[in-house]
Amino acid sequence: MRAAAQYPLVLEIEGGLSASASVLTASLPEQVVGTRRDVRVRAKRHKRLDSSFSQDRTSGQKGRNVNLIYPQESARLNTNTINDSLSRPSREEAEAAVRTLLLWAGDDPDREGLCDTPKRVVKAYEEFFSGYHQDPEEVLRRTFEEIEGYDEIVALRDIRFESHCEHHMAPISGKAHVAYLPDQRVVGISKLARVVELYARRLQIQEKMTAQIANTINSVLRPKGVAVVIEATHQCITSRGVHKPGVTMVTSRMLGAFREESTTRREFLTLISPSNANITSL
Ligand SMILES: [Zn+2]
Repeated sequence: MRAAAQYPLVLEIEGGLSASASVLTASLPEQVVGTRRDVRVRAKRHKRLDSSFSQDRTSGQKGRNVNLIYPQESARLNTNTINDSLSRPSREEAEAAVRTLLLWAGDDPDREGLCDTPKRVVKAYEEFFSGYHQDPEEVLRRTFEEIEGYDEIVALRDIRFESHCEHHMAPISGKAHVAYLPDQRVVGISKLARVVELYARRLQIQEKMTAQIANTINSVLRPKGVAVVIEATHQCITSRGVHKPGVTMVTSRMLGAFREESTTRREFLTLISPSNANITSL
């Protein structure tokens, strides 16, 4: 039996990707169940519901997956906040996972030097990934409009950050240069650095992080343009795989005036250019 209500939903796809979708769902307000044919969605919670629903629906579908889909409460379904509906393991479970990795590395997790390592690693993870628990849009919400007609570029250069690549969980370290062209309002400059930090404290790829920072500033502040350049080194390249120390990756995202007007873009690139000379100091 299907209700004609639409719920915003989060799908957890095997392999760890997340996607959002709205689908017609069964009439279960808290534990919404639905189907999606092109992806295999893994049920982490409500397994009982998943299997009963599968039995009910799979007949005649010839191997198509019938899957559990999680409901989300509000419109905050975009990538700005953590997906609260994913079940979070307990601290003990997280520590046990670190212990497993220590064994996998070939060491004895019970020897003196390692016995507190799982605790320390889990604590460090809380810091490394604290960006999942804060909404970067909220950071930019407070703006100032008394700017005496200021309509030049506001740029923040050399914002240092530490992040982790989502493919290897290896450290990424670098700096971001962020600028916008105000349209009647500005934001406290430290807030730009804070947005960089919040996105850095998640599992990232540099291209995505660059776009997320630019898009967030653009959508909250609604300026005439946004420019973000990130220069970073990735330990997954320098210390494993192809082993190429000294390689710096540069990504940029230009929106509005920075994309459309070459003079504005050039002005921004000039503003950040002194740091380009120091690129090797990363
Ligand atoms: Zn990597």
